[in-house]
Amino acid sequence: MIVMKFGGTSVMDCAAIQRACSIVRERIDRKPLVVVSAMAKVTDQLLATAKAAGSGDRGKALELSRALRERHHETSRQLLGAVEYERFHSVLEQEFDTLDELLRGIAAVGELTPRTSDYVVSYGERLSSKICTAAFAVMGLNSALVDAREVMITDGQHGKAVPLVDEIDCRAQKIIAPLLAEGRVPVTGGFIGATKDGVQTTIGRGGSDYSAALFGAALNAEVIEIWTDVDGMLTTDPKICPEAHRIKVIGFEEAAELAYFGAKVLHPATVLPAVRKNIPVRVLNSRNPSNEGTLIVARAPHSKSLFKAIAAKKGITIIDVCATRMLMTHGFLRQLFEVFDRHRCSVDVVATSEVSVSVTVESSQSTPQIVADLEQIADVHYKERNAIVCLVGESIRETAGIAAQIFTALGNINVRMISQGASEINITFVIDEEQVPEAIRRLHKHFFSAPDANIFD
Ligand code: ADP
Ligand code: ASP
Ligand code: MG
Repeated sequence: MIVMKFGGTSVMDCAAIQRACSIVRERIDRKPLVVVSAMAKVTDQLLATAKAAGSGDRGKALELSRALRERHHETSRQLLGAVEYERFHSVLEQEFDTLDELLRGIAAVGELTPRTSDYVVSYGERLSSKICTAAFAVMGLNSALVDAREVMITDGQHGKAVPLVDEIDCRAQKIIAPLLAEGRVPVTGGFIGATKDGVQTTIGRGGSDYSAALFGAALNAEVIEIWTDVDGMLTTDPKICPEAHRIKVIGFEEAAELAYFGAKVLHPATVLPAVRKNIPVRVLNSRNPSNEGTLIVARAPHSKSLFKAIAAKKGITIIDVCATRMLMTHGFLRQLFEVFDRHRCSVDVVATSEVSVSVTVESSQSTPQIVADLEQIADVHYKERNAIVCLVGESIRETAGIAAQIFTALGNINVRMISQGASEINITFVIDEEQVPEAIRRLHKHFFSAPDANIFD
């Protein structure tokens, strides 16, 4: 079997869903499980709707919900034809009536908990999976809807729930495998799940890729296909640098680093299940399906180019911590990291000197509290609106003088911190957030103007 995951833009409207259906049909012999995201922008809109309700603005919440209702009706009407749409009409009405009831409740209380937010946001994937199942059937596929909440079992950390792998393996074998064996095409939603007690959860923004990989590992897929709106993983974000080249093949470790440091095309956790079962992942373009995309495998061939790609993650805060006594006392670093641990906050880049430590964290609502806790043990200054830029490539291990080349390429862009990860396949540095596009364009020009044709297009 194979897994085929279609992202938001690949199911955004009638034409996109029809394209997705023909792509699935071409692979029907390989027993596809289809995983879909919410239609493009729907997750953001549902979050805005939930927020409006949470602030007591019932009118706005219901207005936003009405727009979503209309969009889902319109797409279904175009896809399904008169007879099938008539049946499906009441399915959609029922879903949106329940959503509106929930929004009225949230607005009446004027409080949005993470648990209710997950419930509201889950409508995106619940609806898109229902629409795709119905549309695929109309287009002649023997599709079967699988409720993701019965398979994607997670812990209870709302908004960022952790999947329970053994439970998912077991449920996928019980619920999805028999459908595949019967020759059906199971269709399910990514991103959403539920606790063992049936409380709805979500696994983090962009998480449908991760869902697809978890289901793929559970069912021992031959390949996990991630269908999106670009030709694969590229040497950098094409929205910043249109000259970006397609990477033909890349290693699991390299792809994971890139995803973690901002290459949005793949959720950072996607490769974990793939590594566990050594399943290749292929990133493909649903608007250009004949392109081979990017193959992500355990061991990628060696590239003559120094780097495979450049990524950047904005919204980074640098925290400078100076020990109040001149020398770092024994146990100081432990105390320092305990603070981050207590706030469940991960530190990306660390630089130390004899008297100070600088770390970077993703900016969040808890940053002021973290700083307050650190002030109990040291002098602290922090600076928001930074970005981490990351260059990734297996060849970094064997090359000297890379930092000098990077500084040369960056010219007058000020580097605030630099670090070479222990994995030795990435170099990261921190700059002002606003300089990211320029930094990426300069680095791309310097390192990718003559790409290795074996690895890049
Ligand atoms: P989907 O909705 O299909 O999951 P996403 O929007 O999450 O799609 O991811 C695709 C987008 O990722 C692309 O449109 C592109 O702008 C962005 N992106 C960022 N870095 C990269 C990269 N290195 N290679 C390809 N795309 C990238
Ligand atoms: N719909 C979810 C999001 O927008 C999950 C995904 O698309 O992967 O974050
Ligand atoms: Mg995505």
